Amino acid sequence: MTIKPTDRDLPVDYSKIEDNLYLGNIMAAYDKEMLRKNGIKRVLTVRDVGIDESGRLPDVEYLQICLTDNLQDDLLTHFAVAHQFIDDGLRQGQPVYVHCRLGQSRSVTIVVGYIMRRDKLDYNEALRRVKAKRPKARPNNSFEFQLKLFKEMNYGLDPMNVQFRQYLLTRLTYVLKKKIINKTTDPDMTIVDKFFEILGDSGNVDGTATVGGGGAITDGQTATADSGQTAAVNGGGGGNSGQTTTQVSVTAGGGPQTTASKTSAGKTTTVVSAASNQIAVGKGSSSSTNSSSSAGQTTLGNEYKCRKCQKVLFNEIQVVRDFINASESRYKCDHIFTEPIKWMPLADIVYQQPSGDLKCPQCSAKCGQFDWCNNQCQCILHQKIKQLCVFKFFAKELNFLK
Ligand SMILES: [Zn+2]
Ligand SMILES: [Zn+2]
Repeated sequence: MTIKPTDRDLPVDYSKIEDNLYLGNIMAAYDKEMLRKNGIKRVLTVRDVGIDESGRLPDVEYLQICLTDNLQDDLLTHFAVAHQFIDDGLRQGQPVYVHCRLGQSRSVTIVVGYIMRRDKLDYNEALRRVKAKRPKARPNNSFEFQLKLFKEMNYGLDPMNVQFRQYLLTRLTYVLKKKIINKTTDPDMTIVDKFFEILGDSGNVDGTATVGGGGAITDGQTATADSGQTAAVNGGGGGNSGQTTTQVSVTAGGGPQTTASKTSAGKTTTVVSAASNQIAVGKGSSSSTNSSSSAGQTTLGNEYKCRKCQKVLFNEIQVVRDFINASESRYKCDHIFTEPIKWMPLADIVYQQPSGDLKCPQCSAKCGQFDWCNNQCQCILHQKIKQLCVFKFFAKELNFLK
């Protein structure tokens, strides 16, 4: 068995959080005695290294959410898959063990999120419950933010939530800038694909649209994407009873992204990498969104058109601001910044040219600029966002309602 030398020094350390739900460190996951004693049937690993073959028990199911433990890590978009894995176990009365390296931040975040969703709790209350059984439980600042946002989005992902969009854009920037700085030449647009999948139609410019990459989503019913895969995680035994929340797992492009493979011992191993397209779109109740209407229809806001040919270039929802909801600011800037939008030649930008002119896709008129390696605006309005992977449009080249 290949255990990292730095892990080997750790003592077996785990806690029982509630019936059938255990949380702890890596060495406990390798401790077959611990697994047998507690009857563990599912092990969820939240880390860059999984449990290798020789460290596994044949009748235990293993799932890995692959990520490290730094402030750039995105756990939020993996909650649906992780929570489903835990929930499937608990509903069948199977003891579940969730772990990362120390059982302190990453795995705690998954479990706290699960309890929040199942019991409809806020972050502090769910964390308090976990801490009562495992005092060292302490999600890092970023994970705490993600859990609070998760609650705000009604325990799902809501592409119409402006904070969530900035969260996704920040992650996107982190990954794309690494590619640009390292001069990566192998085009891998997985992160960009995932970004647009989560945003659904709100990542494009076709006016009014329903949110979510696949089927139409309406409150109170579970919709299924084209691929036919649905992973609805509803609260405990309560099921759908009168909840306005609909959790829908959408996998665009066909086929589940969670890859399951039979191993020789007959157990199923499932690995979900950080780059997976697996996403869950939760259409929150109207109170949790900024601009959704009651019928599940979502307006993307004001249209910004090319002044020359009137093509719609982007919508209000795609505008990125330093100060969320501060539209009537007393400061003025001639620039309007947006997230990446589907019509833009993003692969070329990332792999060939991270700065240049922005041209209308219909009439080729110059309507803006971008320069991802330098500050994109000097004004006081755009201090925080000027280093993100955003696009600078010139207001005078656009038609839009003020
Ligand atoms: Zn044009
Ligand atoms: Zn500015």
